Amino acid sequence: MRILANDGISPSGASALQASGHELLETKVAQEQLINFINDKKVEVLLVRSATKVRTDIIDACPSLKIIGRGGVGMDNIDVAYAREKGLHVINTPAASSQSVAEMVLAHLSGMVRFLHQSNRQMPLEGDTQFNALKKAYGKGIELKGKTLGIIGFGRIGQALAEIAYGLGMPVICHNRSGGPFTLTKTFSDGQQLTFSVANHSKEDVLKMADFISIHVSGAGETLIGAAELGMMKKGAFIVNTARGGSIDEVALLSALEKGHIAGAALDVFVDEPTPAVQVLMNGGVSLTPHIGAATVEAQDRIGTELATLIDEIAQQ
Ligand code: NAD
Repeated sequence: MRILANDGISPSGASALQASGHELLETKVAQEQLINFINDKKVEVLLVRSATKVRTDIIDACPSLKIIGRGGVGMDNIDVAYAREKGLHVINTPAASSQSVAEMVLAHLSGMVRFLHQSNRQMPLEGDTQFNALKKAYGKGIELKGKTLGIIGFGRIGQALAEIAYGLGMPVICHNRSGGPFTLTKTFSDGQQLTFSVANHSKEDVLKMADFISIHVSGAGETLIGAAELGMMKKGAFIVNTARGGSIDEVALLSALEKGHIAGAALDVFVDEPTPAVQVLMNGGVSLTPHIGAATVEAQDRIGTELATLIDEIAQQ
C-alpha cells in the first residue's frame, strides 16, 4: 500500500512497513495541500499523530484513502465515526505509550518533592550569589515512599503508574468510573512477579486520602478537578495532570497553589495548547512539560511497529 506518514514515523516503524512491501512517503504536507497530495499520489494510508487534522473534507475528497492511522491514543484530530461510516479503517496504538507517560508522572513527582522544578529555575539566576539561601529554601524535601498515591482514571496509564509506585513503596488507591478492586501483577527486572490489589473509591475519597493525585481519565472536555475538588485535597498535597488539559481548572489550580493549599502541580497538558496561559507557565509551583508524556524513543518505536502490524493485517483481509 502507498502510505503517507504526515507527522513522521519512527525508523523501526518505517523499516517494518517497508519490509512488508509498502511504499512509505515521509514528506510533511501542509494541511491545506493534503487533499491534492493524497489524490495526486493515490495515497491509501494516511498516518498522523496529533498535528494533522483528518476531517470530513479530506475523507470526502480523497477516494484512494483506505486507512487512517493515529500513532498514539487520542483521536480528536480525526473524524472517526464519519470515516468509518464511509468504509475507511481507523486505527490507533493506545497501549504503546503507557509506560512512558507513567514514568514521566514519576519524574514530575520525584522532582516536585525535592523542589527540582524550582531549583532548576533559580540556580542559573542566583546559584552563584545565593547558594546557601537556595540550599535552605529547597532543603525541606520529602520522600515518596510511604505516601499515598491517588490515581483518577485507572486504565492503561493509571495501572502502569500504580505498578511503578507500588515498587517504590507507595500505597496506591484509585477512582475509576467502573470496575475495581483491581488486581495487578508487578514484574521485576529479574522476572519475579508480585500480585497486588488497588481499591476503587469515590473521587471525593481519593482526593481526601491521597498525598499525591495523578489524573489519567480518557475522554475530552470534562473538568474533573475544580475549586471544590482541590479544596477536598489534603493541605500540602501534589497533583499531576498528563491526561487532558481541561481535566483541571487552571484558574482554580493557580489559586490553590497561591493559597498554599496545594504544594505543587505538574502539567504536561494545558487548556490552551499550543499557547498555554502565561500565568500557568510563570507560576513557580508548577512543574511543566510541553505534552511530551508519550514522546520517548521506545514509545515511538512501539507506535511505529504497532501501526505497521495493523496495516499488514488490514492489507491481508
Ligand atoms: P484508558 O482508556 O486505558 O484509561 C482511562 C480510564 O479512565 C478508563 O478506565 C476509564 O474508565 C476511566 N475514566 C474515564 N473517565 C473517567 C471519569 N470521569 N472518572 C473516573 N474514571 C474515568 O486510557 P489511557 O491510555 O490510560 O490514557 C489516559 C489519558 O492519558 C487519556 O486522556 C490520554 O489522552 C492521555 N494520554 C496523554 C499522553 C501525553 O503525552 N501526556 C500520552 C498518552 C495518553
